[in-house]
Amino acid sequence: MKGTVYLIGAGPGDPGLLTLRGKEILEKADVVVYDRLVSPAILGFCNPKAKMVDVGKMPTHHKVKQSEINRLLVQFACEFPGGVIARLKGGDPFVFGRGGEEALELVAAGVEFEVVPGITSAIAVPAYAGIPVSHRGIATSFHIITGHEKADGRTCHPELYETKNFSSQVELCPLGRSEAESKDPGQNLSLDFETLAKCPGTLIFLMGIANMDFIARRLMECGKDPKTPLAFIEKGTTPYQRTVMATLETAGETIARENVTAPAITIMGGVVELGQTLAWKKNLPLAGKRFVVTRAAKQASGITARLTALGAEVIETPMIETRDVIPATSSVIPATSSVIPATSSVIPAKAGISSADFNALANFDILAFTSTNGVESFFRQLFSAGYDVRVLAGKKIASVGKITEKKLLEYGIRCDYVPEDHTGEGLGRLLRDVVDKEERVILSGERSSESKDLIESRILLLQGNLADDTLLKLLPQATRWVVYETLPVAELPEWKREAVVGADAVVFASTSAVENFCSVILSYTTLGASPLSGSYALWVGERSSESKDLNRESLTTPASCSPRLAFCIGRMTESAARKHGFETVTSDETTMDSLVKKIVEHYKKES
Ligand code: SAH
Repeated sequence: MKGTVYLIGAGPGDPGLLTLRGKEILEKADVVVYDRLVSPAILGFCNPKAKMVDVGKMPTHHKVKQSEINRLLVQFACEFPGGVIARLKGGDPFVFGRGGEEALELVAAGVEFEVVPGITSAIAVPAYAGIPVSHRGIATSFHIITGHEKADGRTCHPELYETKNFSSQVELCPLGRSEAESKDPGQNLSLDFETLAKCPGTLIFLMGIANMDFIARRLMECGKDPKTPLAFIEKGTTPYQRTVMATLETAGETIARENVTAPAITIMGGVVELGQTLAWKKNLPLAGKRFVVTRAAKQASGITARLTALGAEVIETPMIETRDVIPATSSVIPATSSVIPATSSVIPAKAGISSADFNALANFDILAFTSTNGVESFFRQLFSAGYDVRVLAGKKIASVGKITEKKLLEYGIRCDYVPEDHTGEGLGRLLRDVVDKEERVILSGERSSESKDLIESRILLLQGNLADDTLLKLLPQATRWVVYETLPVAELPEWKREAVVGADAVVFASTSAVENFCSVILSYTTLGASPLSGSYALWVGERSSESKDLNRESLTTPASCSPRLAFCIGRMTESAARKHGFETVTSDETTMDSLVKKIVEHYKKES
């Protein structure tokens, strides 16, 4: 039994334009064979365990040949019996995507396949520029044409004409071009210009930018009105979308003047004028920016949604994973360490720190939470141990800040104590005050004569294994249950590393994310195994002796490497980022809203 190959259209760029069916398959894929026009956000939907194969690779302008791609698909189908092989292509797989050729090869090899159509750029990109491809009274048909079919009938693979990154496009045409053709682009085109020129419908050219001057001239020679309105739409549906208007007679000079680069679509006809009125895509404040969000996967979605809504492209790159610490009723579990352990190893135990023991919950009057993870892990474990929230009846609840407070409310718990400054120290001082005042509310009448120590010992801190000792130092008699542990993410898939390199800034919400990001990136640079080679070490400066060992020749300039700017939540995070050479912008409050506001302000100032 062989695996099944799914020819999936990824849509034109905006990850929201991937179909539900496509996403469903990517989430369970064993292998994903993808082209370079597929946006990193869509690659982010793929099963994290999937083998990711980039067939649009172009380190030296060489890509995997179509025959090799066909062969690979068959090979993976054999290597993964019963498996899911996703062949992910830009737009629709059957619209100038060579999906048909791949399907024929699969039939020949007896491999089962399915096609998951995608939204083609030919229609969606004009739509994002407010241009309907057909319109009553203006165009009753539309025609999608390749701007790069050779006279001998060979269509160049579209990927030859694109670079890997939407943010740094250059038109790459030399491959497969004859010398004569390079001198006069387009002369080998086999298009029937006579027929096209007579066609009253909308003409949509894909892969046509390099040949557009020639195409426009030929169309005019064959009688098409030189005043025909025309639009070039570059990187449509992505945060980098740009529309440039022209007419048939000004096509070539406009491309040169405005430096229109691939991937771009050319649309010709009366409908183009509607774009003046219907261009609906707002000029969003973060359009054209790419951010790396280093939060743990389940926490990232909030900030990702906010930044995306403001026009940015977001690469979610969690640096840590959290895992519940299973309640062990009697055993004492690892205490904290400032270094993230490589695995969930056992660290020497410390007085006052243990895993959860729900039987002992009755001994506590105040429960203090210092993170949303802590809240979630605590309740998950509480429920799975067979308890419900009634065990908290009568207890006072403290939270370090607003986000944790809000999380508690999701469980129907309102906080009694939240410090104004939203820090561990603030919470510690607040709880100290409670103890100092011997706040009788938390104590029943018969316990009113108890000492402060005893009152304090009824405080329970619910934290992760990496929480620092601030709270325990301020409240030495309190008990700390480690309800979750944080593990570092040790490596990044290659596509993510590439996406990180091209980003404008990194968003950090914790010192551990900073530390881990730096060590992951550095591990690639010192191994020389990534496009980051050397560059990171250079701008990090004195970070390590390893940087001295790097071959200086191979170092790129700081400006050309991965982001140097870090947006931080919290002063501790900020100083960790600075230590590693980042320029930092830090939110005024420790909330995502505050950070997003700061990011927008930063770019407003810059422009
Ligand atoms: N199968 C794809 C087309 C592949 S041909 C589809 O259905 O969309 C590649 C060409 O598509 C590019 O040269 C460009 O002309 C066009 N294209 C793809 N994505 C685009 C985008 N986001 N913006 C503008 N043009 C795009």
